Amino acid sequence: MKVTDVKVYPLVQPLEIKSFAFSQTWVTGRQVTIVVISTDEGIEGCGEAFGPAQALARTIETFCAPRILGQDPFNTDVIWDSIYRPYRHNSQKGLLCEALSAVDIALWDIKGKATGQPVYNLLGGAFRDRAHAYATGLYRPMAEDPKAALIEEALGYKDAGFFAMKYKMGTVSVEEDLEILGAIRDAIGWDTTLMVDANCAYDAAEAVWLAREMEDLEIYWFEEPLPPEDLDGYVELKNSTTIRIAAGECEMTRFGFRELIARRCVDILQPDAGICGGITEFQKITAMASAWNTQIVPHVWGTNIAIAAALHCYAAIPHIPGKINPPEPFFEFDRSPNPLREGATHEKFTAVDSYIDIPKTPGLGVTVDKDFLKAHAVQ
Ligand code: CA
Repeated sequence: MKVTDVKVYPLVQPLEIKSFAFSQTWVTGRQVTIVVISTDEGIEGCGEAFGPAQALARTIETFCAPRILGQDPFNTDVIWDSIYRPYRHNSQKGLLCEALSAVDIALWDIKGKATGQPVYNLLGGAFRDRAHAYATGLYRPMAEDPKAALIEEALGYKDAGFFAMKYKMGTVSVEEDLEILGAIRDAIGWDTTLMVDANCAYDAAEAVWLAREMEDLEIYWFEEPLPPEDLDGYVELKNSTTIRIAAGECEMTRFGFRELIARRCVDILQPDAGICGGITEFQKITAMASAWNTQIVPHVWGTNIAIAAALHCYAAIPHIPGKINPPEPFFEFDRSPNPLREGATHEKFTAVDSYIDIPKTPGLGVTVDKDFLKAHAVQ
């Protein structure tokens, strides 16, 4: 089998009054880059990358596509190496690695469809057939009374059956964040798991102080408290609090994750298959995490294609550590406004009592809606 065509769809959709903020920026629109790879046997695969859509599309079209046309899609490691290695100056972190991620995911989709197997079977089999989903939301809203809006949103997740949810902190002062967090805890009670995500908003001293304040609120994990470059700060923070420290969505490739893992910077790793180098690289990161006894919770913030890719990676994560009755890893289920999420595929994912079924059909188990892609693609 040979790759015959690579088509890219940079999708952009404004959010207008549904715009929201996290600690680094207001999100006034959602964007995503979807790639569809065709073969001479009529099998097509789809992939997705996280990042600036138009720049990623150009990178895939002009850089990745010429290197995979004519290649056998089963050679995922060989193709990965052919794009990453000769261009290390550019590919270690950033757009080229994200572009490679989308291409790699599409190749795994093709491999699954060609063999009639769901991707997780090609990764060594599923340790679980459903994902324990938590709600990612609770961003800073464009509301007259943000605190009231956040409490209402949190109660909505609880009513929808989510066992856990995540609050995005760092858009306001630490005092205001703690007040809102306390109000959310009061509203949802103590039987719902609550995490926080700062998207790299603090230095180590502030994060250590905040973590101590949040211990009384039984915060399950503190996500991206520090910028990803401050690995020593992560170690300092992790050794100073009983709250689990999570990070990894900004990290790329096994080489980048090696530092996070071996230096014991975090308790929970959050690789994103659409960022870190695709399913090929996610699997290698998983093997390292297992060797260092560090848990993995996939990061996902894209369309149903990204969710599907993450679900297959998640299915194949071994229990870290294993035991007779191991708890299942959490699975990120982004509930923030994203009109592209549902439109990109014909299949939809829903969480019932906080669980999402992992697709069992060949490949990723989703089919792209090409009419939707064409309608929302920008130049
Ligand atoms: Ca995050």
